[in-house]
Amino acid sequence: MSDCLFCKIIEGEIPSNKIYEDDKIFCFHDIDPQAPVHCLMIPKKHISSIDDVQDEDAEILSYMMLKIKDIAAQLGLQNGYRVVINCGEDGVQTVQHLHLHILGKRKLTWPPG
Ligand code: AMP
Ligand code: ZN
Repeated sequence: MSDCLFCKIIEGEIPSNKIYEDDKIFCFHDIDPQAPVHCLMIPKKHISSIDDVQDEDAEILSYMMLKIKDIAAQLGLQNGYRVVINCGEDGVQTVQHLHLHILGKRKLTWPPG
């Protein structure tokens, strides 16, 4: 999608601090980290939010779930981590391209703010 920030990051039009990329996903460091490690994982296919996924997205969604542990290992998160998907106004989603936050390297509190 031409006016999407994360699609532009995938295309390299906007620079990012890349962690991992393959034909299906792109992972990069969050520009405003909320933990010592704060990675964003996005599908290369533009999907606006977790509220917009379709049955046809099952394969990419499961691929992302299965990749989390590999990215966490690459980032040294052997002591644990948290995966977050924000959605909509109450979930405070600010970028309308589906993304997983992977946060770690500190003891995270619960409930989240
Ligand atoms: P969310 O609030 O769940 O939509 O998360 C969007 C995330 O994208 C926030 O944590 C932002 O800090 C992050 N973000 C926004 N712009 C950039 C960027 N250019 N590079 C990396 N992360 C970004
Ligand atoms: Zn996009």
